[in-house]
Amino acid sequence: MDSRPAKNASLPGMSAPTPMMVQYLALKAKAGDCLLFYRMGDFFELFFDDARAAAATLDIALTSRGEHDGKPIPMCGVPVHSAEDYLARLIKAGHRVAIAEQTESPEQAKLRGGSKALVARDIVRFVTAGTLTEDSLLDSWASNMLVALAPVGDMIGVAAADISTGHFELAAVSPGALEAELARLAASEIVVPDGFADMPDAIVRPRADFDSVAGEAALKEHFAVANLDAIGALTRSELAAAGGLIAYLAHAGQGKMPFLKLPVRREVHEHLLIDQATRDSLEINAASKGGRAGSLLAEVDRTITGGGARQLAADLAAPLMDKHRIEERLALVQWFHDAPLLRDAVRSALRQLPDIARALGRVVAGRGSPRDLGQIRDGLDGARALRERLGAMAERPALLDDLLPTLDGHGAMVDLFQRALVASPPTETGQGGYIAEGYDAALDSLRLAGRDGRQAIAQLEARYRNATGVSALKIRHNGVLGYFVEVPAKNGDALMAAGSGFTHRQTMAGAVRFNSPELHEEALRITQAGGHALAAETAHLEELIGEAMARRDAIAASADALARIDVAAALAERAAEGGWCRPSFADHPCLEIEGGRHPVVESALAKAGDRFIANDCALAPERRLWLVSGPNMGGKSTFLRQNALTVLLAQAGSYVPATSARLGLVDRLFSRVGASDNLARGRSTFMVEMVETAAILAQATERSFVILDEVGRGTSTYDGLAIAWAVVEGIHEANRCRCLFATHYHELTRLADSLDALSLHHVRAKEYKGDLVLMHEVADGPADRSYGIAVAKLAGLPPPVIARAQTVLEKLEKGRAETGGLAAGLGDLPLFSAALDAAEAKVDALREKLTGLDIDALSPRQALDLLYELKRAAGED
Ligand code: ADP
Repeated sequence: MDSRPAKNASLPGMSAPTPMMVQYLALKAKAGDCLLFYRMGDFFELFFDDARAAAATLDIALTSRGEHDGKPIPMCGVPVHSAEDYLARLIKAGHRVAIAEQTESPEQAKLRGGSKALVARDIVRFVTAGTLTEDSLLDSWASNMLVALAPVGDMIGVAAADISTGHFELAAVSPGALEAELARLAASEIVVPDGFADMPDAIVRPRADFDSVAGEAALKEHFAVANLDAIGALTRSELAAAGGLIAYLAHAGQGKMPFLKLPVRREVHEHLLIDQATRDSLEINAASKGGRAGSLLAEVDRTITGGGARQLAADLAAPLMDKHRIEERLALVQWFHDAPLLRDAVRSALRQLPDIARALGRVVAGRGSPRDLGQIRDGLDGARALRERLGAMAERPALLDDLLPTLDGHGAMVDLFQRALVASPPTETGQGGYIAEGYDAALDSLRLAGRDGRQAIAQLEARYRNATGVSALKIRHNGVLGYFVEVPAKNGDALMAAGSGFTHRQTMAGAVRFNSPELHEEALRITQAGGHALAAETAHLEELIGEAMARRDAIAASADALARIDVAAALAERAAEGGWCRPSFADHPCLEIEGGRHPVVESALAKAGDRFIANDCALAPERRLWLVSGPNMGGKSTFLRQNALTVLLAQAGSYVPATSARLGLVDRLFSRVGASDNLARGRSTFMVEMVETAAILAQATERSFVILDEVGRGTSTYDGLAIAWAVVEGIHEANRCRCLFATHYHELTRLADSLDALSLHHVRAKEYKGDLVLMHEVADGPADRSYGIAVAKLAGLPPPVIARAQTVLEKLEKGRAETGGLAAGLGDLPLFSAALDAAEAKVDALREKLTGLDIDALSPRQALDLLYELKRAAGED
């Protein structure tokens, strides 16, 4: 979508657009590539390309209205009262929407510019995926992150906010770490400065918004502080990103700022780094077929509150690197784990609590309703009760002691809201009725006057029936006429008579409507009382919102504490359900797991009545690489992944699906699956597989954990084996990380002769009465053979094909025996370290040349010559 109509409007020689079109086109120019919702009475209307796009997405009728440049103007519209639903669908489909409201009433417009004056309109808000606060537009269990990126020098500032809860964080990352950081944040919307390296879906904003000096000023202004010491020392890139984010929020809210808590500064190395490919492969927050079902998160999640679900997702997305913090979380999980009755009680208490964080987000963004205040009241009241209950327990874990005080302290506000608001306040304010009886005596008497008036009208109705003898006479009310007397058409004449006391107002198909002086007077009393009552309620609402605003940080802290308690109790629940254990941590890079299981596969099997076979894993510096072979479908991938998931869960502060687990903290986690395994997704090619493998070889450290599943499978046998061979050697010699490598290349087992920290393992299988039985058991030593044909038989290949394959295999195996097979001649391969040294030596010669160089002293010609020379040197051998 673009603003083409605006361009057309200024073309010479075209017929002059109507004043409304002029106004529309000006607003559309302001809306840029957002769809423009143009308010007309009870509808938001869309025109031109916007109308076409919206009609297609929303499946609503495309009509037209008037003409522009001699052509009909395409139009569609949505009713204001149900606009939220339509907005949700447009945003989900990837659109952004600018809302243009009427900024004056038709009466005001007439006073201003005469009877033909056009009502003034302006854009009051941009609705975008990253700036939502409405419940109906958000998933309660997922965060909604808006991210701004700002490159400064060789770092990229990352500012991330979830304005529905006020969460706000800043980090500075190197370009190489950006991908993993963005993968962790899973942003709904990314904002970048004009000219930022290609990021196709990002929203591009003016460079000036991403200025570090302006960013610092914006932070100080937003938080009304003289300095930013409370956040910590921010780098220029972080300030610039914060500036870009705040500027975008100000733009989206058209000056009205949403809720932002004081930002938390994150160091990238605080977290276990996991890139996007690994997240996808391990199906951490979403399953490979898309959606949450089947993911680790869905499998683990037993949280009760929306806040808890969001916190758990964030915890799993960013496991910790700080042993102390992990142990603190685990201690709280264990506390709940060991006390099932208490856990149940806490979980039932949480079940009653509304989503305070989101309610607060709406209140601060200026979109708060009485219902939001009611939720804050009930949530905080529940928090207070929870604090009393937990505070009474002996021997509380340290983390709980930190959390408890933040659950309380809102007593005065909660009491006020309890007195001021009705039990279940409405979302709509138009009808009033949300301020409780007894809170304001003046309001009560206005309401009483209204009630008296309605009673008087009921009496009037009875009196008129008697007087006129028309028993079907009714006094009714509607939005256009107000109160009126209505009789069936056949009785109309009686009331029409002069001197009847009634004046005719309207004749309908079956009824006639009248007014009377008494009715008029009573109606006036009711409307006046109602108007005053509504004004009084509005004033009270504003006061109450002011109270909540003033306490926003403390309320948000309570919401965070509740979420943390929910997560701990939920993890305890999950652990108890599955018989999981508390992991422990060692100082050296080991991974010792006994009785380990894959939580997702285990549940899937359990549903089908099958049992999961638990397996052990034992990696240590001197035995850090396991080569796992065995038949397809034997359980290799499952084994690899369960160990990676166990690391992730442990560092997120969760119990793990094993009988015992001890590990040295992992700094980066990698998971790669060979190309052919992934082809079903239509995404993976051999190239992608190699790019991803390259990333591991470049980034894995001695503290990393890597699982590689059938790498080298996406190409021909010889290529594949050669690549797999070299990758295993590279990981063993250069990266020296913990690694599980699954392969069907039997030949790789010969690496055990030359690589001392590599050991051989296999998933067991046996043939029983001619059929293959997969044991799903990981055992020491190499697999005796690959069982490919047996698996094919299991899969139902027709017997003649199986028999033929058997014959071919026998021939091939005979050939192998005679020639030494695929790996013949690899015996005298030079050591991998020699290859490392050669590469190193060449790079060093280049480096030496470059270090001694004074670039400023070179003429352009000399620089060019030098480039040629360097290129030659690099290609020398
Ligand atoms: P491979 O990688 O060796 O081809 P997978 O790990 O994909 O095998 O496992 C194939 C199937 O075997 C899984 O979908 C699962 O149903 C089953 N399986 C794997 N591991 C186990 C286990 N430890 N216990 C029981 N069943 C298992």
